[in-house]
Amino acid sequence: MKSLIPHYSLVCSLCGKRHADAPTGFRLTCAENHAPALLRAQYVDPRFEIQPDAPGMFRFANWLPVRRILPDAPAPVVMHSEKLGQRLGLNRLYFVFSGYWPERGALMTTGSFKELEAPPVCARIPDGERRRLVVSSAGNTARAFLHVCATHEIPAVIVVPEVGLPFLWMLRPKPECVTLVALKGDVDYFDAIRIGNLIAATDGYFPEGGAANVARRDGMGTVLLSFVEQLGTLPVHYFQAVGSGTGAIAVWDMRRRLLEDGRFGAGNMRLHLAQNAPFTPMVDAWRQHSRDLFPENDTEQRRNIAATRAHVLSNRRPPYAIVGGLYDALNESNGEMYAVANDDAQRAGALFMQDEGSDLDPAAEVAVASLFQAVERKTVAPNDLILLNLTGGGYERLKREQSCIPVQPDIVLTPVDLAPEIIAEKFIL
Ligand SMILES: *Cc1c(COP(=O)(O)O)cnc(C)c1O
Ligand SMILES: [Zn+2]
Repeated sequence: MKSLIPHYSLVCSLCGKRHADAPTGFRLTCAENHAPALLRAQYVDPRFEIQPDAPGMFRFANWLPVRRILPDAPAPVVMHSEKLGQRLGLNRLYFVFSGYWPERGALMTTGSFKELEAPPVCARIPDGERRRLVVSSAGNTARAFLHVCATHEIPAVIVVPEVGLPFLWMLRPKPECVTLVALKGDVDYFDAIRIGNLIAATDGYFPEGGAANVARRDGMGTVLLSFVEQLGTLPVHYFQAVGSGTGAIAVWDMRRRLLEDGRFGAGNMRLHLAQNAPFTPMVDAWRQHSRDLFPENDTEQRRNIAATRAHVLSNRRPPYAIVGGLYDALNESNGEMYAVANDDAQRAGALFMQDEGSDLDPAAEVAVASLFQAVERKTVAPNDLILLNLTGGGYERLKREQSCIPVQPDIVLTPVDLAPEIIAEKFIL
C-alpha cells in the first residue's frame, strides 16, 4: 500500500480555523472554545479529478481524506430507472445503488452504503498507528467494518447492541485482529456509542468518531461524485432515507466542492430526506423549522423505534443541530423531509422489486416511498434530474449466492458490566 502525502486539511465549519490532521488517530473536532461544529475536509485539488486506475471508490481519492489507497474497494453504481420512472412519470430518475446486484455491477457484499464509509476511514489511519480502532454500530456499519478491517488486517473493536447480531455476517471466518463486543439487554445504537466511547478512552484504543469523521462523510459523498462522473451535472433533487443524516451532510459538502469547481452546474440541489414513522424526530423538528430536536423521553423514543421496520434509521442523537450538520444542510438547500409509514415503505419496496428486480434494505424502501410522496405532492417535475440514493439492498441474492457466515461476539457485556471502571478493566491490553 502506497502512502499518500497529505492532500487535505480540516476546516472548522463554525470558526473557519484550518487544522492539519492528527499525527495519530483522527482529528475529530476543532478544539477552539466554541459551540460544537463539524470539521470539513479541504482538498489541495480544487478540481474534480478522477484517477481511473485506482480501485472502486478510490478513483475519487483526490477528494477523500485518506493516507493510502486500499485495494479491492467497491463503488456505488449509477443506473437510469426506466420502469419505476415510467410508473411515476419521471423521465430523468437515476438510482445510485450501494449493495449487491452483480449484473448491474454492484458488488458490495455487506449490502449497504456503509461499505463506502469503512474503506476511507481505514485508509485514513496514520502509518504507525498501533492502537485499535473502536467503532459503534446498530448493524450495517458493523457489518461493513467487520469486512473491511478483516480484509485489510486492521485491528479493531466493534460494539453492537445484541439485537444487531442477526444482521452480522461475513464471507470468511472473522480474524483475530477484529473483536466483536455485544451489549445485552434493553440497549440500542446510542448505548453502543456510549460504551464504544468508554472503550476508546482506554489506553491502546482510539475512536472512529461517527459523523465527526470526515472520511466517513466524504466516503458517502462518493454517491454524488459517481452521479456527476456519469451525468456530467449535479442533480436537481436528492432523495435519501436518514437515521443520522450523515449521508445527506456528506453529499451537501460534496456539492459545495463541485460548485467551486464550476463545471457541473450552479443551480440548487434540494435535499429530500425521509424517516420511518413513528420514529421521526428530524422530520418533526424540520417541519417547524426548529434547529433543536423536540424533547422526547427515552421510553417514548424506544417504543417508537421498536415500531419501525427500518432500524438503521433509529439514531436518537443525530448530528442535526450541530453547526455544519443536517439542519444547516436542509436550510441551505431549502430541503424537505418526509415521514414514511411501514406499510407505504413495504409497498414501495414491492413495486421496486417488480419494476427493477432487486430487493432493498427497509431503509431504501423508505426512500423510494418518499419519492412517491413527492410525486403526489408535485414537489418534483417530470423532467427534473433526480438522484435517488438506494442505500442498501440485494440481501436475498447475497444469501442465495454467497456463503454468509453468522458472526459470534467475542465479548458479551451485560448491564452490570457497563460501569466505566469495569469497561476499563476488561479492555486493558
Ligand atoms: C445507515 C443507513 C442509512 C442512514 O444513513 P445516514 O446518512 O447515516 O442517516 C440509510 N440506509 C441504510 C441502508 C443504512 O445502512
Ligand atoms: Zn472552530
